[in-house]
Amino acid sequence: MSSNVERLGTHFSIPIEPDEDGYLGRECPVEECLGYFKITPGTGLTGPAPCCCPYCGQSGEQDTFFTQAQIEYAKSVAFKQFTDAFHKDLKAMEFEHKPRGMFGIGISLKVTSGPPRPIHYYREQQLETEVVCDNCTLRYAIYGVFGWCPDCGVHNSLQILVKNLELARKELALSSNVDRDLADYLIGDALENAVSAFDAFGRELCVQKGTEIRFQSVAIARTRVQDRFQVDFADGLTELEWQAVCQAFQKRHLLAHKMGVIDQG
Ligand SMILES: [Zn+2]
Ligand SMILES: [Zn+2]
Repeated sequence: MSSNVERLGTHFSIPIEPDEDGYLGRECPVEECLGYFKITPGTGLTGPAPCCCPYCGQSGEQDTFFTQAQIEYAKSVAFKQFTDAFHKDLKAMEFEHKPRGMFGIGISLKVTSGPPRPIHYYREQQLETEVVCDNCTLRYAIYGVFGWCPDCGVHNSLQILVKNLELARKELALSSNVDRDLADYLIGDALENAVSAFDAFGRELCVQKGTEIRFQSVAIARTRVQDRFQVDFADGLTELEWQAVCQAFQKRHLLAHKMGVIDQG
């Protein structure tokens, strides 16, 4: 009798498709994190690999990283499939017996459907940074700038630093082909970008080690890092090179103040 419902079985498989940019939303299962990020299926590691949360580093099976919105969507689709099948089965049981004789009672079963249950459609969210992992080629998107690659687990901080320094280098290259005013602007901006990138990179590494150190005043940062980690990041530099670095950071400090950029470094 319940052939449509029986045909559905007890396991529903609801496909969760990537959005128009090719991204599939993911949500960290760790209660204190629940971080949202996106990955592009088909990029990154080949073969089954666990998923790594870019924010807290939690690693687990792919199917533990569905977002709440995806689960609500899948539930609503499964529920609709079930109610549709159930409705069809009931419909097949419709009958109508006319009253017979003087005191007969007519009985009928007429199945009408109530308002349809809505499907909970969802949209993946916009995120701040899109990254293609240098290590495994996974294309992913995260809040903020820094994070672990969801596929191979490599942190992207060095990759982001290198990319920003490349941009600064491009600005410098461009500055040799333009008039003086624009060249000054480009050089200043390249310096600003290089210092910001170094500051963000250094801070991120320290946060991962449970320490807060700012890197906009590079000489102070050098001492603090030495005190805290017994590492001298200027180790590979000659004294002259180190002085040039300090001067560049000081210049950037002056420029930032001249341009009204708020700097607490
Ligand atoms: Zn997490
Ligand atoms: Zn990767």
